[in-house]
Amino acid sequence: MAVLDYDLHCHSTASDGLLAPVDLVARAAGRGVKFLALTDHDDVAGLTEAAAAARLHGVQFINGVEISVSWRGHTVHVVGLHIDPACAPLLEGLRANRGGRGARAQAMAESLAKCGIGGALEGAYRHAANPGIIGRTHFARFLVESGHAGEVRSVFKNYLVKGKPGYVPHQWAALPDAVGWIRGSGGIAVLAHPGRYTAGRNRMGGKALRELLREFSACGGRGIEVVSGAHTPEQYAEFARYAQEFSLLASCGSDFHGPGESYRDLGRLPDFPPGCRPVWRAWEATSTQDNAI
Ligand code: AMP
Ligand code: MN
Ligand code: MN
Ligand code: MN
Repeated sequence: MAVLDYDLHCHSTASDGLLAPVDLVARAAGRGVKFLALTDHDDVAGLTEAAAAARLHGVQFINGVEISVSWRGHTVHVVGLHIDPACAPLLEGLRANRGGRGARAQAMAESLAKCGIGGALEGAYRHAANPGIIGRTHFARFLVESGHAGEVRSVFKNYLVKGKPGYVPHQWAALPDAVGWIRGSGGIAVLAHPGRYTAGRNRMGGKALRELLREFSACGGRGIEVVSGAHTPEQYAEFARYAQEFSLLASCGSDFHGPGESYRDLGRLPDFPPGCRPVWRAWEATSTQDNAI
């Protein structure tokens, strides 16, 4: 089966990944990735280091970010690709979006304490190399470390999700704002892992997903993740159909967070279903031979 040499969604220690940007890039290069975007949550702090490492490894680097958004009571993620990480309105928007994470973490720890799990705040911060981006993954690592779950993935069945200990509702950026910050910096906005929104508790139905995609397109969103580490092969086909229906470019990314922790390792993602227009067509025409930074 053909595999893609693009991986346009992954995380480093600048958000909730386990590997420093240089180690992430080295791992991607070793696994055959030729085009890599680092897309940390609500922060661009890892991009300079990752871009420098990419130059050494001969990997084409794409500046990215993954922005947390609240839409009709759902949290959705919007990936920005080929952004300018020095763009002031983007940086200000990300800073504002990060702003509430500290108080949220405190409330999460209080909720866990009520269920008899103490020390969660300090425990989570111990796992957060970038404390400004403290989030659920850091709490999940603490819950594994303290024996409350076997692995990070299973934490999200019993904790930190709606109706479970450690869950705290939160208001993230509005969809048009997040898309606007990305576009304003010259980037392409891509709806991340839509299969996550149509599964699990609090799931979105097909009607809501269509409304989300309509609004996303109307405010300038251009792409959708079709091949994602969070998707099953059936979902590749499903979201390829949505891409066609809404004339969106198709993106692909592992959503890798760390060895042994993620569903998929970096790269080696299966090719798109027929009929998809890859998101890189959007910047291929304009980019030079040089790396993006
Ligand atoms: P936050 O931005 O603090 O709400 O944290 C969101 C992060 O939690 C995601 O980016 C994932 O890294 C992690 N996460 C959420 N749900 C799951 C899940 N079901 N399995 C594994 N990781 C998850
Ligand atoms: Mn994450
Ligand atoms: Mn995400
Ligand atoms: Mn992600």
